[in-house]
Amino acid sequence: MVNQAEVKMPAYFEPEVRILSRHQLEELQLRRLQAQVERLYRESPFFREKWQGLSLDLKALEDLARFPVVTKDELREEQRLHPPLGRYTVAPREAWQEYHPSSGTTGYPVGTVWSRQDTENIASVTARTLFGFGLRPGDVLLNGFSYGLWVAGMAVHYAATKLGLFVLPVGSGQIERHLELMARFRPKALTATPSFGLYLAEALQERGLQSSLRLGAFGGEAGTENPATRRRLEEALGIRAYDYYGLAEMGPTFAAECEMQAGLHFAEDHYLVEVVDPISKEPLPEGQMGVLVLTHLTREATPLVRYFTGDLARITKEPCPCGRTHLRALGGILGRVDDLVVYRGAKFYPGQVEEVVRSFPELSSEYRIEVVEEGGMVRRVTVVVEARAEAQGQVEGLANALKQRLREALAVTPEVRLEAPGTLERTAFKAKRVVRRAGA
Ligand SMILES: [Zn+2]
Repeated sequence: MVNQAEVKMPAYFEPEVRILSRHQLEELQLRRLQAQVERLYRESPFFREKWQGLSLDLKALEDLARFPVVTKDELREEQRLHPPLGRYTVAPREAWQEYHPSSGTTGYPVGTVWSRQDTENIASVTARTLFGFGLRPGDVLLNGFSYGLWVAGMAVHYAATKLGLFVLPVGSGQIERHLELMARFRPKALTATPSFGLYLAEALQERGLQSSLRLGAFGGEAGTENPATRRRLEEALGIRAYDYYGLAEMGPTFAAECEMQAGLHFAEDHYLVEVVDPISKEPLPEGQMGVLVLTHLTREATPLVRYFTGDLARITKEPCPCGRTHLRALGGILGRVDDLVVYRGAKFYPGQVEEVVRSFPELSSEYRIEVVEEGGMVRRVTVVVEARAEAQGQVEGLANALKQRLREALAVTPEVRLEAPGTLERTAFKAKRVVRRAGA
């Protein structure tokens, strides 16, 4: 069937901002930044106190580096002391549309409000990403992102509506429902966490069912750009797999891969992106790995200036072969600053373990890193994996081979434990890879 809309649509959704020259883009960013900073100084006692004694004069984007970063702990404390949403929630109540808390499971949740205008912008930015993955009006989308309080489900839904897609709003979990609707409507695309994508692939395979999918966009956790994970998702589901990035405090889905699969493009007309040293918080030169610090250029209700995300990335402003000028995080999100494991002088992130585990066809996609700490020191690290049923006869050889490959990748040798298939918890939300406990 020929999709008529496909013929007439331009190469980019909102091409006017996607292919601006870097110079024009940065001018737009500076104007928006100046306005946002002035507005927050005027209307937000939180930022006014934080910026006391600072010159607000921003002549260039780099001048923002003298402003302090904002951490999640600060936001949590601010909202606890000034309920319901802290003194950086500056839009009047009549403008509020919906509430979304952060997804963390511990402590007072940090809440975010989307005003009607914010929701409109979020839908546009997300529609851009879906369009970039190749979705066109009339296409069928299986939305496996959780609906409700979590940001991604709603954002994708609004964007799909805007783009004229037919949405199957299943949300996360409910694997049987996903299978049933796939059989009935043959969706072209799936949006979900990579963990859920792999879980769906496993379920299809177990039941001998065919995937109807041609593309998948995976977010909510890092890992899609990990070559072994991407290969596994693409082969198991018969798709092109794209990476997606967002976080509750800043907004969902504001960075995504393009059809070149060459890193995450950020929606730079709405977000200012910096990379800083995790300890000194000083900006790092382009190309160096550090922590992403993000600023809302257009957010109306709960805007943040210099939010310290804790997510590690390496950015480039080099032009992308796709023609879009918005900067990219190469290889996607490379880890969480707090997931770093320091063991016997070696430092590694779960992504490095994942790459090794998923390069073994005899192992399932699930893994866990158990870290035993004592007196502030890591005493033992065990990588727990699942051997597939057909590999049960050769577990010893498999364990040794895995250990060997992990030693090469991490420059340190963790313990390895092979479990039966299905032992490790499957999650449709964010898989917890590093489990720390105290002990000897
Ligand atoms: Zn591109």
